[in-house]
Amino acid sequence: MAKKKNPVEVYQLICEDCGERNYVVRMKKEHKGLHIRKYCSKTRTHTMHKAKKA
Ligand SMILES: [Zn+2]
Repeated sequence: MAKKKNPVEVYQLICEDCGERNYVVRMKKEHKGLHIRKYCSKTRTHTMHKAKKA
C-alpha cells in the first residue's frame, strides 16, 4: 500500500451570501466543510465562505 504523506486537496471557497467562488486554496482533507470568514469581491464585505472541493 502506498503511503501518502500530507494528503492535500484543492478547495474552492464559496461565498455563502452570493455564491461567488472567490478563492482557491490547498489544504488537508480534514478541513473539508470548513467555514472561513473571507472578503467577497462581489459584495465588497467580509462574508462566510464554505470550503468545497474543486
Ligand atoms: Zn459574496
